[in-house]
Amino acid sequence: MTEPLYMDDSYLKKWTAEVIRISNGKYIILNKSAFYPTGGGQPCDEGIIKKNGKLYKVVYVRKFSGEISHEVDKIGLKKGDQVVCELDWERRYIYMRYHTACHLISNILYKKAGAKITGNQIELDKTRMDFAMKDYSPEKLNAYINEANKILQKDIPVTIYYLSRGDVMKNDDMARLAKGLPQDIQKFRIVKIGDIDEQIDGGTHVKNLKEVGQIEIIKTANKGKNNRRIYFVIKK
Ligand SMILES: [Zn+2]
Repeated sequence: MTEPLYMDDSYLKKWTAEVIRISNGKYIILNKSAFYPTGGGQPCDEGIIKKNGKLYKVVYVRKFSGEISHEVDKIGLKKGDQVVCELDWERRYIYMRYHTACHLISNILYKKAGAKITGNQIELDKTRMDFAMKDYSPEKLNAYINEANKILQKDIPVTIYYLSRGDVMKNDDMARLAKGLPQDIQKFRIVKIGDIDEQIDGGTHVKNLKEVGQIEIIKTANKGKNNRRIYFVIKK
């Protein structure tokens, strides 16, 4: 199984690995990888795999049968190859900033308005969030985003830790999410924003809220009676 290096260190950009399997010449399984596979509203990483000075561009990464599968742009890599891997860091870092912003927004919407997030999709130039909220008004939304932006100016650490299934089940909010995940998971990864928010999550995040920037809503839409869709950007 691939060791997912991004789980404990979102800032790892370059590492060495061994090719342990290849499918159809272009789908590479490594013994360890910091390439994030598409999931949880966060797109996959891109970057390069290097072998003896030859570059293989990583064009798509996804989880497949529990493994992280890296699609490269050409054939040539072989089982047993020792390779150097490097992320397209600029791309990844934007996703980290957006993903942490999503957690903060969802925390505020839930705490202030009881609104639950029903979907989200991070992109390089914007992020979409869908949520269900009663008594919605643009003024309320603006107030929540202003509150988020005030918090984002503070020096607040974002940390990762792990909880056992038993401990997750003691927390109502976490237990609700854990019930929807495979029952054989015994160890849950938790992303914690200071004393503000804790969520079960597999994504990559910045290590301090100050790195996110400021949120600006660029578009909102109605998606049924209580369902809203917002698009936002983050600016440094
Ligand atoms: Zn998340």
